[in-house]
Amino acid sequence: MATVPAELGWITEFRLTEPARACERPAGAYANCLALSVRCAIWLRGHGIECGLLHMAGRAEPFHGGSGRWPFSDPAETHHWTVRVGDWSIDWTARQFRPRAPWPQVDRVERLGEGWRLVEDWACPRCPVLVADARHMDLAPAGLGRRHRAIARATAGLGPYPDPRQDDSPALALICACTPAVAA
Ligand SMILES: [Zn+2]
Repeated sequence: MATVPAELGWITEFRLTEPARACERPAGAYANCLALSVRCAIWLRGHGIECGLLHMAGRAEPFHGGSGRWPFSDPAETHHWTVRVGDWSIDWTARQFRPRAPWPQVDRVERLGEGWRLVEDWACPRCPVLVADARHMDLAPAGLGRRHRAIARATAGLGPYPDPRQDDSPALALICACTPAVAA
């Protein structure tokens, strides 16, 4: 991150929080994109900063250096979430895909379409609720990435990949009914 825009000055403070620090390293970041993005967005709103969530899906290439299942699973089936503040995407878990990614990785929202087939506002700044089920805010249980990696190797990337936070909770579905996709 070369220059941090003034409106993102809060990043230095959120970095120090416990859930953020748990996701600093690639193994900790694995499968925590939605959970940490929701936690960050709630934290931001608590500080009076408008924000929403972005959802991305579909890559052309697998993440060869990624954690857990990412080097083995179908890249077209990859889903990812980040925090949106204004025209910026703040990605606290980019290291699950690329261990040397900045922490967080900050991008212009308009540039996300260069890597992702789908980019959409998952929850807009007006959405009062940011998560369909409280379990989706839980950080991944210890060892989830290691287990998913073993499954990926054993099934040629096909899975399925059990996740106690999602298997018995409502399916992940777009939260926002206010706005259309920002890019396709
Ligand atoms: Zn909305």
